Amino acid sequence: MTGEEPLERNPHVPDSGRYWCYRCKAHNDFDHITWRSNDTYEKMSCVRCQASMFNPARTKPVMVGLLGFTLVALLFALALWRDYRGYVAGCLGFAAFSGLIGFMMLYYMNLWWSWSRFQRAKSAEQLEQEGRQYIVLIEKEQK
Ligand SMILES: [Zn+2]
Repeated sequence: MTGEEPLERNPHVPDSGRYWCYRCKAHNDFDHITWRSNDTYEKMSCVRCQASMFNPARTKPVMVGLLGFTLVALLFALALWRDYRGYVAGCLGFAAFSGLIGFMMLYYMNLWWSWSRFQRAKSAEQLEQEGRQYIVLIEKEQK
């Protein structure tokens, strides 16, 4: 009877609330790594390829915030350009910093969006079959 009941957690069905590996393009299991130096760092490391995984539902608001901040910092730089040129470099520095991280997140979110669009176009049976084959593949790899 095994292999006939539907998968409870199909790694190939997009779920923005679950951690996703951009390299494997799947909701793989992950190792939660935390370490302390000056700050506490944590990383969700894909059990299959060790890439850092991310949670689309949590990343999106941070990304929007950072890109919004970048825009505001750029507008400030523009507004200060004529009379307060001394502050412009600072504004541009902030904009560059938040922009860099924001666009990096945008890049990964884009990978997520295109994958989830692609997956949603498939039928439930197809996803089910893909998910099963994928799980078998991972089990083989881990041996
Ligand atoms: Zn991976």
